[in-house]
Amino acid sequence: MSGDCDFGLIGLAVMGENLALNVESRGYKVAVYNRTTSKVDDLIAGRAAGKNFVGTHSIEDFVKAVKRPRKLMMLVKAGPAVDAIIESLIPLCEPGDIIIDGGNTYYVDTERRTKTVEDAGLLYVGAGVSGGEEGALKGPSLMPGGSKEAWPEIKDMFQAIAAKVGPNDDIPCCEWVGPRGAGHYVKMVHNGIEYGDMQLICEAYQLLKELAGLSNDELYDVFAKWNEGELQSYLIEITRDIFSVKDDQGGDGYLVDKVLDVAGAKGTGKWMSQLALDLGVPSTLVTTAVFARGLSAQKDARVRASESLRGPGAESNPQWSALTESVIGDKQGFIDAVRDALYASKIVSYAQGFVQLQAASTEHDWDLDYGQSALLWRGGCIIRAQFLDRIKEAFDDQPNLENLLLYPFFKDAIEQCQPAWRRVVAAASIAGIPVPAFGAALNYYDGYRMDRLPANLLQAQRDYFGAHTYKRVDRDGTFHSEWLDLR
Ligand code: NAP
Repeated sequence: MSGDCDFGLIGLAVMGENLALNVESRGYKVAVYNRTTSKVDDLIAGRAAGKNFVGTHSIEDFVKAVKRPRKLMMLVKAGPAVDAIIESLIPLCEPGDIIIDGGNTYYVDTERRTKTVEDAGLLYVGAGVSGGEEGALKGPSLMPGGSKEAWPEIKDMFQAIAAKVGPNDDIPCCEWVGPRGAGHYVKMVHNGIEYGDMQLICEAYQLLKELAGLSNDELYDVFAKWNEGELQSYLIEITRDIFSVKDDQGGDGYLVDKVLDVAGAKGTGKWMSQLALDLGVPSTLVTTAVFARGLSAQKDARVRASESLRGPGAESNPQWSALTESVIGDKQGFIDAVRDALYASKIVSYAQGFVQLQAASTEHDWDLDYGQSALLWRGGCIIRAQFLDRIKEAFDDQPNLENLLLYPFFKDAIEQCQPAWRRVVAAASIAGIPVPAFGAALNYYDGYRMDRLPANLLQAQRDYFGAHTYKRVDRDGTFHSEWLDLR
């Protein structure tokens, strides 16, 4: 037996509730269910009052309320909860029904679940959903992957609820990504890039605050200006706004200065870093950003170390003012240089993210469309930025582009930013301000453009101590030497 709802949603926490309201607002009738059923009643009596919703109190009633082929989406805590719900849905569903997981699921789980659900005669979609609760309500970025036959069934609804971009605001940030776990992988890379973007912005902030001595009001103005150029993005915009917010707890000053400098994380940056290591691709921006959050979390240790470890900083150096003046030079010139360093580093970060996507696509046979991925992130999500249009153009122009750094637009941009980028990393180093992501980006750039790295010596070492063999530059074959005997 089936009902007359067009869509079913399980999981009424922030994401599920808002996404359900979004779907209903586009003219669809929505059935909802949540393990703690009081949340169903709260929604139906509250935000969904008078709207086209059916609240259900059991998974059986939930499935029955939706018309075939059913589109049943879970937005619950990623992990075992998803397996448990799939297990309970499978016997209640009928051939052709579609189970969708919109959570932040590890892509390997989605690969496995696609097979389980397909083996049961149903269809499965692992959909990356980005944009937080506001995106879920007003238009998220959606990255669906899984059983391809599900796409024609869900396409209209998914594209209707997704964020829209383009000159006429009519291009949906939602397209089919690829088989099995491809959608969740693309979402994970989005999150990893988000880690890099945020870390880079934080490094720019520390340089401008501590080296250039900018106040929060001045930082507001700088970020407002940056948001009008190539750096225009959601993250630059919210950073600008953060500098204008006064403390709401009765204290003087700005709220940002009262926030503890300990960063949290939910794990997607760690996954991307681990998978980069597995694939052997140097996604150094995300790994650096994850480690920077880790170091921030060692607050007590840092406070202890700050009492004994000395750098060239203000409190230990009577020449600090002279030193900062010498590394900064003209203040506005330094602010512009930090902007250039941020832009160049951001280009490297995205280049690395796409190299990882290319490696994963090859490994898993996903046949990803990279320009399309850039477009999916163009609206609705946290890394939304003007800049992504340039990435889409690059991959549209050269679908097999090896690395974004090689595309003329980005190559030129980096060339223009390069002197300032080097100056900023050097200034930070001289002044003892950590810029791990700016530095990692510059080091990647310098390493990538070297036709000869010192890995010849490394191979020699490996062959010396472990007979790991080496190749030669001047002839084919694999060689091993008794290095000591050849002296
Ligand atoms: P959440 O806090 O991750 O999860 C809470 C929801 O999961 C509740 O509906 C809860 O039901 C349900 N749940 C937990 N364990 C369950 C189980 N064993 N069986 C059945 N239901 C269970 O909620 P969220 O923040 O809205 O996120 C939902 C998903 O979207 C997550 O995968 C999250 O990572 C992802 N996501 C979140 C954001 C965001 O900004 N929050 C953005 C993008 C993606 P009860 O009410 O009964 O506890």
